[in-house]
Amino acid sequence: MTHTRPKILISACLLGEQVRYDGKDKLLNDDRIANWLQQSILVAICPEVSGGLSTPRAPAELQSRIEPQQVITINNADVTDAFKKGARQALELCISNDIKLAILTEGSPSCGSSNINDGQFRHRKIPGEGLTTKLLRENNITVFSHLEIDRAERYYQTLLN
Ligand code: SF4
Repeated sequence: MTHTRPKILISACLLGEQVRYDGKDKLLNDDRIANWLQQSILVAICPEVSGGLSTPRAPAELQSRIEPQQVITINNADVTDAFKKGARQALELCISNDIKLAILTEGSPSCGSSNINDGQFRHRKIPGEGLTTKLLRENNITVFSHLEIDRAERYYQTLLN
């Protein structure tokens, strides 16, 4: 019987894919990420691109003080549906690959896990989580940010036991 190692969901921009709103990546240079990549453990997704948005695209921020939460671009377009669709696709990817751990980009209205912009396009962060992170956590998937690779690695070890 072949034993497959558990997989990890990762924000595509952290692997160097140029999928950010500004057309750039957010490549994370970390030996552990490089090793996991080499071992085919990482499953990458950009929820916003998967949700149907183009790259580059207008910056968007989560309006987290309003319920239900909306994602609005700087041009005042409502892109909530695309963000939600991308979040669902990330969840489906986790379910189909039996993924219990995600490493996502901090601060994003999709991928943020501890903080997000305040919704007023003034580069101010507030505590909060993006829509993809929220949906994954609601489905018992543990999310760490790209600033928490130590913690993510320790958690990954528990999945191997
Ligand atoms: S939605 Fe997530 S994966 Fe896509 S560019 Fe933003 S932070 Fe990166």
